[in-house]
Amino acid sequence: MTHIPTYIFNHEIRALNISKIRQFDDHVSAFEPLIRLTLGQPDFPTPQHVKDAAKEAIDSDFSFYTSTAGDIKLREAASKFVEIKYNLKYDPQTEVIATVGATEALATSLFTILNPGDYVLIPSPFFSLYDSLVRMSQATPIYIDTSETDFLITSDTIDKAIQNLDKIPKAIILNYPNNPTGVTWTKDDVISLAQTLSTYPDMLVISDEIYSELVYDQIHVSLGEYLRSQTIVINGLSKSHAMTGWRLGLIFAPESLTTELLKTHQALVTSASSITQYAGIEALTHGINDALPMKQAYKKRRNTVTQALRELNLTFTEPKGAFYVFASLPKDLPMTSYDFCYEFAKHFKVAMIPGDAFGDAGEGYFRISYASSLKDIEIAMDRLAQYVTDLREQ
Ligand code: PMP
Repeated sequence: MTHIPTYIFNHEIRALNISKIRQFDDHVSAFEPLIRLTLGQPDFPTPQHVKDAAKEAIDSDFSFYTSTAGDIKLREAASKFVEIKYNLKYDPQTEVIATVGATEALATSLFTILNPGDYVLIPSPFFSLYDSLVRMSQATPIYIDTSETDFLITSDTIDKAIQNLDKIPKAIILNYPNNPTGVTWTKDDVISLAQTLSTYPDMLVISDEIYSELVYDQIHVSLGEYLRSQTIVINGLSKSHAMTGWRLGLIFAPESLTTELLKTHQALVTSASSITQYAGIEALTHGINDALPMKQAYKKRRNTVTQALRELNLTFTEPKGAFYVFASLPKDLPMTSYDFCYEFAKHFKVAMIPGDAFGDAGEGYFRISYASSLKDIEIAMDRLAQYVTDLREQ
């Protein structure tokens, strides 16, 4: 094969690393069979009625491009869904866009607003896609370490981060419930953040609320309710309806924003898959509570994990949503997160993600995903107990 010189490639892309989650996964795959507590996706099947709707869409030749923003019935269903669930009011005609997963919603949002040299605030630890998309736009991510504030961004830390900069950031990306930490905000937190963020009217807020249907002991509050004019709310069906492979995401934003967002969305993908959109209409109308049984199962698993961690005296911030627990390495252990997880996978056949995969603020932690069967989780926690006991005795 002819050698392609490196200068051929876009330099931001060349500098991007493959996700550390993927790298870790590759490294430990030599130790199969493994119990994987690494997955960022539901282990449940898509609800049957949603699958049936997709079959109907195929059989009735619903096979053409939809309008750029998505089929109007889907936009109406989505608008109604977020109104019932989160008290949001977005006009389905002009303020809702169906995307190819939350991933494309994020890409569309960032590519629409960023110019080279712009700053974007990213609370850290973070979902690594944010960092990649900002860098692809030749903008600069500014990380705000949240490990001292229970992984919640606060008004104070936002103000401090901005004071140190020579210009106001173009955007801040928020993600509650959070991947990787499982923490989420309360209504009071949202109100206070909205107040602070409104003092920076030139800074947009990209609020990734993809885990909004998986909040355990409280009600999800959307930033769109309290800071509508500045916020792009991102959601989707991947987690709420166990539909990661279907690729359906949603953008909710004021028309002044969607007018520009639509140009990017159209250039990137034309429209989301028609079959998937048809299934989405079913999910968001007759399946508005499809997440409930899954949520109950996740909650039980979460309790199993947190109970096991408590018994081992491992510290973590109480996870209130999504399906992750972000725990500290045993104290005084001269080991990196990577080595801790690698050795565990090697000797105990359980894979968990080292915290540094989510930014420097994640070093010293590991992420457990409990989107796995309760039985596997129980076995994994027994093995973790044995591993930690061995390490402490060394
Ligand atoms: N945001 C967060 C925080 C996520 O964890 C994920 C998926 N792991 C996504 C966005 C992407 O979701 P989608 O499958 O809808 O593209």
